Amino acid sequence: MENQRLGRLVLVIYPLQGHATPVLQLGDVLHSKGFAITIAHTRFNPPNPSNHPHFSFLLLPDNLPYSDTSQTPSVDDFEAINRDCHAPLQELLELKEQRVDCQVVGIIFDSLMYFAATVADHIKIPRLVFMTSNAAFYQAFAAIPRLMAEGFFPFQDSMLHEIVPQQYPLRFKDLPVLRENMDMMQKLIDLASNFQKFSAIILNTVDFLEQSSLLQLQQQYQVPVFQVGPLSKLAPAISTSFLKEDSNCIAWLDNQTANSVLYVSKGSLSMSDSKELTETFWGLANSGQSFLWVVRPGSVSGSEWTEVLPKDFKEIIGERGLIVKWAPQKEVLTHSAVGGFWSHCGWNSTMESLSEGVPMICSPQFFDQKVIARYITHEWKVGLELDGELERGGIERCIRTLMVGKNGAEMRERATELKQMTSVSIHEGGSSYNSLIELTEFLLANNIPQN
Ligand code: UDP
Repeated sequence: MENQRLGRLVLVIYPLQGHATPVLQLGDVLHSKGFAITIAHTRFNPPNPSNHPHFSFLLLPDNLPYSDTSQTPSVDDFEAINRDCHAPLQELLELKEQRVDCQVVGIIFDSLMYFAATVADHIKIPRLVFMTSNAAFYQAFAAIPRLMAEGFFPFQDSMLHEIVPQQYPLRFKDLPVLRENMDMMQKLIDLASNFQKFSAIILNTVDFLEQSSLLQLQQQYQVPVFQVGPLSKLAPAISTSFLKEDSNCIAWLDNQTANSVLYVSKGSLSMSDSKELTETFWGLANSGQSFLWVVRPGSVSGSEWTEVLPKDFKEIIGERGLIVKWAPQKEVLTHSAVGGFWSHCGWNSTMESLSEGVPMICSPQFFDQKVIARYITHEWKVGLELDGELERGGIERCIRTLMVGKNGAEMRERATELKQMTSVSIHEGGSSYNSLIELTEFLLANNIPQN
């Protein structure tokens, strides 16, 4: 039965794993508060309705020629989605209004689906943007035009380790910029000016983690900011995965001792080459530590999966390591055998790790990941930086430091404290708990259903 007491919310998702996951989780949470939920999605990477029997779905015809899910929408694609999906969403919502089962009281859209703001304006309902990365990233991205105007770009290699003016703790190397393609960067900045039509901001974060960035976002946009994370803990039961999860790894983890396994995953988008995969393999093998390693099919250029590894790789690692195509990551990070996470520092992975008290090795690849990695290592002090070209010796040393070194033990202790603080935030009286109540009140105050 759909929950319809408070009216219907339409959530517009962007077709990437890291974007769709937190929006679907938020849908689950808001459904439990009394809203009916409709998920508007593209043809590409649609959510699986059977995982969400309590939601209804609106298919937006995106007109893009995707042939399989290994493709990633480009910047041009996302402009096209925003152009082509506007009229269909408006028509579908107007139709829905006429057939009213319950009134649409608000649109919550991924910041990359900015066309939805204009649709919400047209039907005169609140439009809330869901920013799917962390507050510090959006705040750093917003500072790029100023830094450009002040002549900091292009910056020299000699400046990489300098702190960016007014952006502590970020160094120039941590900025979310495409140094090698400043034309593209300018295009992204121009597009970002479209992101500003919203009546409130929602983030999957916790206020104690990034209080000052949250405050700056609020001051910059002059709208309410609701920080309602970690959503993975508020909606733990729903499956949001686009790929099939290999659950056998949980039985393997059950046979490992506490805190002994390093979990290695670089998310849904990252790519590597055969050299990097081979160096990673030898780094893991030589570290002497147990590991669970996700190698996504198609993520190594020129290979289908792990063909570039030594033919006898299974004998080399024996029972000490397991390689899978896609893991049930939230369950993995909750498992007591997992003592560390080597990550690309996507925001969902980071929140999942922080809320389970798992310290990290940070290998950011691009954009928001570099900002997030800096916060993990420098602000929250629960991770080690493993940046630049990966080679087996450096990997081996870093793994040992995290898993069995004194520094690693200190980070694990600190990560446990953050886990406890995060848990406090989602329980009665906590900051995310309160923010969620305020979000519900905001939605109701701005549009009370008539039926
Ligand atoms: N994930 C998963 N299994 C894997 C690897 C990743 O379920 O083997 C999930 C992970 O739990 C997270 C999402 O995929 O929720 C990745 O999002 P993130 O923001 O960390 O990175 P992105 O994929 O967007 O780079």
